Amino acid sequence: MSTIEKLVESFRQFPGIGPRQAKRFVYFLLTRNPHFIDELSTHLKELKKEVSLCSTCFRFFDKRKISGNICATCDNQNRDKSKMMIVEKDVDLENIERSGAYKGLYFVLGGSVPVLEKEPERYVRSNELLERVEKNCEDKKCQEIILALSNNSDGDNTSRFLNEILSPLLEKYDFKISTLGRGLSTGTELEYSDSETIKNALENRH
Ligand SMILES: [Zn+2]
Repeated sequence: MSTIEKLVESFRQFPGIGPRQAKRFVYFLLTRNPHFIDELSTHLKELKKEVSLCSTCFRFFDKRKISGNICATCDNQNRDKSKMMIVEKDVDLENIERSGAYKGLYFVLGGSVPVLEKEPERYVRSNELLERVEKNCEDKKCQEIILALSNNSDGDNTSRFLNEILSPLLEKYDFKISTLGRGLSTGTELEYSDSETIKNALENRH
């Protein structure tokens, strides 16, 4: 396999990137000057060294600024610990933070469960979620879990799955599960929603 082919294969693994786009990336790189390529490869190598996964909410954070394995949001004593919002990915969390409308805690699922999928656990951090919720409930902190998932069929399916796996804990502890209001129009992803829409969706949660 040539280097071009190898790189195409690598780019094809990126979310939403098909073989034609992957090839365009490679040819784009070939037209750049050597400095651009050097810088890019340095950043790629640094990425794993500088970024860590929070052991509590599973978001990525810059570990150069923080000692330990907990992100600044989880470590912030001023956050409302009675609420935990479940999001699919880091960009959703960042967008909600930017809106300033939410002061609770988070959990990053790491994806969504495709419709008709037989092994949902392969797509989301379900065991980690159950562990976290159980721990928060034991500490009597958890009062509400807010599902902030994509407003599409995969998001609905993920919501069904989460309700199912959380139901034994719901019977055992006193908390509720709510869902973001439909201020988000059908098919809209949280990632692309503006602050006002997020605020409305949060106020109209049910
Ligand atoms: Zn965290």
